[in-house]
Amino acid sequence: MTADPAPSGRLSPGAVRSALDGAAAVLVPDDPGYEDARTIEPGGVELRPAAIVRPTDAAGVARAVRLARDAGAEVSVRSGGHSVFGLGRGTGALTIDLRGLDAVDVDTSTGPPTAWAGGGVTAGAYSQTVGELGLATPFGDTAGVGVGGITLGGGVGLLSRAHGMTIDHLLGAEVVTADGQVLHVDAEEHPDLFWALRGGGGNFGVVTRFRFALTELSEVVGGMLMLPATPESVAGIVAAADAAPRGLTVILMVMSAPPVPFIPAEWHGRLVVMANLCWSGRPEDADAAMAPVRDVAARAGGAIVDGVRTGPYAGLLEGGPPPGAMVATGRAFFTDGLDLDAATHLLSQLESVDAPMRAAQLRVLGGAVADVDPGATAYPHRGARVLGNVAAVAPSAEAAAGYTPWVEALAARLRGDHPGAYVNFALDGGLDVARAAYPGATWERLRQVKRTYDPQNVFTGNVNVPPA
Ligand SMILES: Cc1cc2nc3c(=O)[nH]c(=O)nc-3n(C[C@H](O)[C@H](O)[C@H](O)COP(=O)(O)OP(=O)(O)OC[C@H]3O[C@@H](n4cnc5c(N)ncnc54)[C@H](O)[C@@H]3O)c2cc1C
Repeated sequence: MTADPAPSGRLSPGAVRSALDGAAAVLVPDDPGYEDARTIEPGGVELRPAAIVRPTDAAGVARAVRLARDAGAEVSVRSGGHSVFGLGRGTGALTIDLRGLDAVDVDTSTGPPTAWAGGGVTAGAYSQTVGELGLATPFGDTAGVGVGGITLGGGVGLLSRAHGMTIDHLLGAEVVTADGQVLHVDAEEHPDLFWALRGGGGNFGVVTRFRFALTELSEVVGGMLMLPATPESVAGIVAAADAAPRGLTVILMVMSAPPVPFIPAEWHGRLVVMANLCWSGRPEDADAAMAPVRDVAARAGGAIVDGVRTGPYAGLLEGGPPPGAMVATGRAFFTDGLDLDAATHLLSQLESVDAPMRAAQLRVLGGAVADVDPGATAYPHRGARVLGNVAAVAPSAEAAAGYTPWVEALAARLRGDHPGAYVNFALDGGLDVARAAYPGATWERLRQVKRTYDPQNVFTGNVNVPPA
C-alpha cells in the first residue's frame, strides 16, 4: 500500500499537540513509539498516519474527532489492530488509538451479570478478567483481537453455536459521534444507532465503552483435534459439526502441518485438519457430543494430536501471530456446506499451489447464530451454515498478491451460489464488499443511520457505508 501526499498544515504535529493538549498523548513520525504504534497485526500493510493519538476517555476521543473533522482529515480508529483498516491509510490521516481505554468493570450486584469494557480492550484480556468470576461473553478464536473491531463487525467464534455472536450480547455502548457528542446508546436510547452498531462496523462513531451481557461459564471442554486431511475427513467433520448439538462449536483449519514439536515429524508438511472444538454444555455430555467428530478422525486413520481438555474458555483463545509477521492474501465466503466434491477440490488446490503457507478455515455456524432474526441486527447472514476463508501467506506483500487470483478462484468455487460477505474478514473496504456484507434492507437502513449520525462520512476507515 502506498502513502498519500504530505499532511495538511492543520494536522501538523504542533497543531495536533496543541488541539489535544491534556486530552490525549500524541505520536507523530520520528517520535519514539510511533513505529510500534503504527504496526498492526496483518503484515505487509504500510500505514503512516500524520498522527496517532491516544486518549484515555470519551472526552479525549471527542476532542480528537472534532480535530480530525475540522481539519478535513481522514480519521481511523484502532482497537486491537487486527484488521487492515486499523490505522489511517495516508500521511494525512489521524488515528485514534483506543488502547488506553482498557478497563473492564463487571457488575454482579443486581440482576444478570454485565460488564463495561473499554473500546481498546482485547478479547483475551476481557475474557481473562470475567473468566476469573466464572463468566464469559462470546468472542472469536484469538485473544489479541480487539473487542472494538470484532464486536462492531459481528463476532463469530468458539461459543457461537451455543451462545450466539458477540453482538447478541451487546446491551449498550458509549459512542462519540462525528460531531463530537458523547451518546449513551442502547435499545431505548438511539435504538437505530444501537441496531447499526451490531454488525455495521466502525461507520457510526467511536465506541469508547461497550456494555456486554455475561453468561455463567466456568469451564468448557475444548481444544484441537488434528487428523489427516482427506476429502472424506474434511467433508465429514463439517457435516458432523453441523449436525452436532448446539453446545458444540467447531472451527476447522485445513493446512499443511507446520514443523512444530507437538506435531509428529512424519506429518510435517502434509495436509491435516486442525479441528478446534469447544463444548460449553454440561462437561459430562462432552464425549457424546464430540463422538461423531472423533468417528471421522478414526475413519481417517486416527487423531494425530488430541488436545481436547477441560479448562476455562479464555484458555482456548489463541495467542495469534506477532504483529506484522504474516503477509496474507485471503478471501472469505459463506456457504451452505462442503460436499465431497468441494472437499476434493479444496485439497487438490491446497496441494498444488506453491505458496509457502496456504490454508482454508471453515467455521460451522447455525445453532444460536441462526436463532436471531436477520433484520434484528446489522449482521443479516443468520442463515449461513458455514463461514469460510481461504488464504495464502508469503514473505512479502508483492509475493502474497501473486496468490490473490488463486484465493479468489478457490473461494468462488467453495461459496457456490451463496452471496454475502463477513465484514470482519474483509481485506478491502470497497463498495462491492460493503454491498455483499449488507444486502437489501440492511444496506438501506444502515445508510439512513449513517446520514443521521455521520452525514459527512467522517468515519471512512472501515468497510464504508456512505450516508443516504
Ligand atoms: C488472527 C486473527 C483472528 C481473527 N479471529 C476472528 C474470529 O475468531 N472471529 C471474528 O469474528 N473475527 C476474527 N478476526 C477478524 C477481526 O474480528 C477483525 O479483523 C476486527 O476488525 C479486528 O478488530 P480489532 O479491534 O482487533 O482491529 P482494529 O484494526 O483495531 O479495528 C478494526 C476496525 O474496527 C473499527 N473499530 C475498532 N474498534 C472500534 C471502536 N471502539 N469504535 C469504532 N470503531 C472501531 C474501526 O473501523 C477499525 O478500523 C480475526 C482477525 C485476525 C487477524
